[in-house]
Amino acid sequence: MVSVIFIAPPAAGKGTISKYLVGNFGYTQLSTGDLLRKAAKEDTTFGRNIKQLIDEGFFVSDEIVLKLIERELEKIKGKAFILDGIPRNILQAKHLEKIFEKINVDKYIVINLDILEDTLKKRATGRRLCNDCHLSYNIYFDGFKPKEENVCDTCHNPLLRREDDAEEVFISRYQTYLKNTLPLIHFYQEKGLLYVVDANCTNAEILENVEKIIKGEEND
Ligand code: AMP
Repeated sequence: MVSVIFIAPPAAGKGTISKYLVGNFGYTQLSTGDLLRKAAKEDTTFGRNIKQLIDEGFFVSDEIVLKLIERELEKIKGKAFILDGIPRNILQAKHLEKIFEKINVDKYIVINLDILEDTLKKRATGRRLCNDCHLSYNIYFDGFKPKEENVCDTCHNPLLRREDDAEEVFISRYQTYLKNTLPLIHFYQEKGLLYVVDANCTNAEILENVEKIIKGEEND
């Protein structure tokens, strides 16, 4: 199976799509956001520094993120993976190429989820999460609202909002995406690795298009 890198602005739904691909295709998902949020829970200076950067919408240093992902990629050597959240800039992309060479990743593709800023803002600021089962809801979109306001349908726990989903933090994360991450589209296009998927439609439609790309690559 071909490994996949997702490039998408914050709250575009790359986490949801990745989880679907893990469940249906047996991919291993490596999310730098999840890895860093886990590290941020540590009651150490390192953990606290990471928490502050994430909560304020800033990038964690390239050095830390690259070390973290290299370690995880080595653990799953030989398996098809999904990278969700990395690379976030050209330096990370170039360094990843070196890591891929080292662990013999010969084939991968890059999928860009293309989505309007207004939709993203609602996805981010309306996102609510259950801390127990990790289900994700959205208070603005029918079909994603919890049955009871602010309560998880399955665990009945109160739902939480990620601090970095606050509107002002979203705006700063989106600006960072435009400045640092968007240039990656050109970078991967030149290498012939890029697919663009319209992510302004329903999750089912997005998943269908992503699946088509992956299956098409398998048949190549
Ligand atoms: P995400 O869940 O992918 O939106 O990531 C949440 C936060 O983790 C980001 O806003 C950054 O602060 C940090 N982060 C995740 N991936 C990276 C990365 N590749 N480089 C730098 N910071 C990252």
